[in-house]
Amino acid sequence: MTSTAQVAGDTERASAFDVDRIRRDFPILAQTVHGKRLAYLDNAATAQKPQSVLDVMERYYREDNANIHRGVHLLSERATAAYEAARAKVQHFINARHSREIIFTRSSTESINLVAQTFGRQRIGHGDEVVISAMEHHSNIVPWQMICEEKGARLRVVPITDAGELRLGEYERLLGPRTKLVAITHMSNALGTVTPARQIVEIAHQRGAPVLFDGSQAAYHMTIDVQALDCDFYAITGHKLYGPTGIGVLYGKSEHLESMPPYQGGGDMISAVTFEKTTYNTPPYKFEAGTPNICGVIGLGAAVDYITAVGLDEVAAHERELLRYGTDALHEVRGLRIIGTSPHKASILSFVMKDIHPHDIGTILDQEGVAIRTGHHCAMPVMERFGIPATARASLAMYNTREDIDALVSALRRVEEVFG
Ligand SMILES: *Cc1c(COP(=O)(O)O)cnc(C)c1O
Repeated sequence: MTSTAQVAGDTERASAFDVDRIRRDFPILAQTVHGKRLAYLDNAATAQKPQSVLDVMERYYREDNANIHRGVHLLSERATAAYEAARAKVQHFINARHSREIIFTRSSTESINLVAQTFGRQRIGHGDEVVISAMEHHSNIVPWQMICEEKGARLRVVPITDAGELRLGEYERLLGPRTKLVAITHMSNALGTVTPARQIVEIAHQRGAPVLFDGSQAAYHMTIDVQALDCDFYAITGHKLYGPTGIGVLYGKSEHLESMPPYQGGGDMISAVTFEKTTYNTPPYKFEAGTPNICGVIGLGAAVDYITAVGLDEVAAHERELLRYGTDALHEVRGLRIIGTSPHKASILSFVMKDIHPHDIGTILDQEGVAIRTGHHCAMPVMERFGIPATARASLAMYNTREDIDALVSALRRVEEVFG
């Protein structure tokens, strides 16, 4: 493996992390778009899937497809075993204490809505407060606005600095006896900022407020340990974690899940139903009404296996090196300004170029084979904070290389030429 890095002659770390080998596991990357080599730099929107995930999902439908939990036949037993094995994989991936603390949802959006509509609805009353931050994705704003509106409660927003960091002093001041929940991102999708999660929890818990983290971004860039964080809830979305779409995870501390009301009613979430009274199943099943996305769960389990085999710490080191390389390279582009400059950031290069609309940047880059995202990134308040309508955003994953960054920079030179 070291020899591959030496042959490549440069750039990649000469360690067990072999990016060329990793790239071969992602068949979608080996294509051209508009006749150019694909540089896929839109990972914060969704990541590509390794062959092992594709294989597991195909094999499930070909060989094991059956409904789970209630079947007595062999296929159902196999499907159930694979589904529950994936739950254990996710449990170990984020170091949850119990597998019953892992609930499968549709996405992190649904995970957050689940907490808002159950835990939130139960706890938040008139005049209470929910604390979020100014760098949240809409998925971690709107569900709280909805429940606050319903209950006559108030949303409090922790401001951020010009670098895109949480103002911790302000955060501390915002917390009070009326704070019923803190819901903050572990990593911003618009800025790349990694928030001081452990401190956020410590400060909130001192005041008796539980904490939910939106881990949609963090979970595929760094090792997550929910016990070390001591957070109360943690939301993950599968498709950014190299898994399929339509599957998400909600981690919740057992003691909360026990006392929370169910989210949706239906099959599987009950233990007995009569017209007079229904008794609910225990967690996690209480929160998984109806036939779940069985194949999606199994695919997510395969994605977790894949990431674990590569090693998330190695991935983080690789991405850190690329982020530094990319940041330096972007500084060389005339009129370009990076939005989100915290030293505590990961894998995201959000930027604007003087007098050029991000949408035009994205369109020209696409012609050069470079896939990025432009717009408000479902974080309109972040754009407002920086006084801009949109940014162009390149975002990294484990399979990206210096070649991708070089393609980005040379495509930006093309943008300069066109608009220069
Ligand atoms: C992508 C993302 C979400 C929403 O994820 P879905 O898969 O659309 O539910 C929420 N928060 C952050 C920070 C994200 O990056």
